[in-house]
Amino acid sequence: MVGGKPSRGARAKEKQVQYIQAVLSDLKQKHPHEPEFHQAAEEILLSLAPVVAQHPEYEAAALLERFVEPERVVMFRVPWVDDAGKVRVNRGYRVQFNSAIGPYKGGLRFHPSVNLSVIKFLGLEQILKNSLTGLPIGGGKGGADFDPKGKSDGEIMRFCQSFMTGLFRHIGQDTDVPAGDIGVGGREIGYLFGQYKRLQNEHTGVLTGRGLSYGGSLVRTEATGYGLIYMVEEAMRRRGEGLAGKTVVISGAGNVAIYACEKAQALGAKVVAMYDSDGYIYDKSGIRLEVVKQIKEAERGRIKAYAERVAGAEYHEGCGGVWAIPCDVALPCATQNEIGEAAAKLLVQNGVKYVGEGANMPTTLAGIDVFRGAGVVFLPAKAANAGGVATSTLEMAQSSMRLYWSFEEVDAHLKKIMAEIYQRIDDAAARYGKRGDYVAGANIAGFEKVAAAMIAQGIV
Ligand code: NDP
Repeated sequence: MVGGKPSRGARAKEKQVQYIQAVLSDLKQKHPHEPEFHQAAEEILLSLAPVVAQHPEYEAAALLERFVEPERVVMFRVPWVDDAGKVRVNRGYRVQFNSAIGPYKGGLRFHPSVNLSVIKFLGLEQILKNSLTGLPIGGGKGGADFDPKGKSDGEIMRFCQSFMTGLFRHIGQDTDVPAGDIGVGGREIGYLFGQYKRLQNEHTGVLTGRGLSYGGSLVRTEATGYGLIYMVEEAMRRRGEGLAGKTVVISGAGNVAIYACEKAQALGAKVVAMYDSDGYIYDKSGIRLEVVKQIKEAERGRIKAYAERVAGAEYHEGCGGVWAIPCDVALPCATQNEIGEAAAKLLVQNGVKYVGEGANMPTTLAGIDVFRGAGVVFLPAKAANAGGVATSTLEMAQSSMRLYWSFEEVDAHLKKIMAEIYQRIDDAAARYGKRGDYVAGANIAGFEKVAAAMIAQGIV
């Protein structure tokens, strides 16, 4: 304030907050049935106010309006025949959101909850995540409302072949490079790749997460979970702490959760709980990961079986109760909106010090506010789970060069990338007077590079 009047800087900031609010309200009006997309857009745009205030040219170039509008959305029919001979129809999606800094890159999700809102929220997050890795990749995401649970191998294969028949003409190693996500692991990527190769008659790095026998990279399977732990450990190291001896609760029992558990245990942490979509296991003497892997990876079974096989372990129906277990570190690694305000309060009450998001948007906006208010070190998804896409990009590099790196080489790259991301988000938060606010830091650091590239490329 100067002489009772707001300073020029404060007025600029106020004007830009109005600009952001106008973009958000327009977006909600245009797409009223996309709550997950609104949630992600709100979290991102509101924290960009200080950056936008320093760049009035963004408004003139309608930069935010363009940033929240996908470059292209593809929706397609996916017909397939089940084992009983019945014809089934699903809907496939690919949102090619932003290619300012590189070809679209982002996973495919097969889950009954998939719709355009979910894919757009994931795609928007992916733009900034990919930017944060420091690698030349744009943002995209896709999937289908298909439920792989209970399907035979043959049904999965026929579905994947039909899905790729709808998608192949829109992707390519220099255009758009999909990968896995919920419900899409090594098996599905194999079937998708086989069909792409058959249709396009080329063997390229068009998908990542491929098997090691046909162009995959070592560490890709472990990358998201390991990367999450590397970042948590880095945040702890900066505070004179480490994971050794800490109690950890992990949600999910899929790819990200399993490898986060593996690395956390390797660093001396005690992981006491995990869940799948039916319920959670609590093993106070420490989860035996080989049993979880046998059930979830080898048998594709339910986590409930853990308590039947391990003496002293408990199984509870329903997932929410997992956040009532006291822990030092909470790692939500299943899906969006797992931790709401009440769960966040419970975690804080029970002494949680670090929260690292392995899943995408697992914490609601109200939950984030609780952690922020309590001084919990909160590492948001777009930074903390970027190890998967970073390693996918290392897979793309190896494909282009027609060579393979050793496990140790790729793992060393991953560790370095996660430490660099931490540095970027820490710096960005500090530069804008928000030290320790990694939600702001991640959004700002990710956005700065994308915005510069978009401005440089003109109105496109
Ligand atoms: P998986 O399909 O391998 O595992 C997902 C796990 O979460 C399963 O245990 C599943 O239970 C559980 N789950 C899914 N939906 C729900 C729900 N609504 N309620 C409770 N539990 C649920 O997926 P990933 O491990 O690959 O992905 C997990 C998260 O990590 C997602 O948010 C994804 O976007 C994110 N992510 C993944 C990356 C990767 O490299 N795979 C990269 C970056 C982010 P069930 O077994 O019963 O299905």
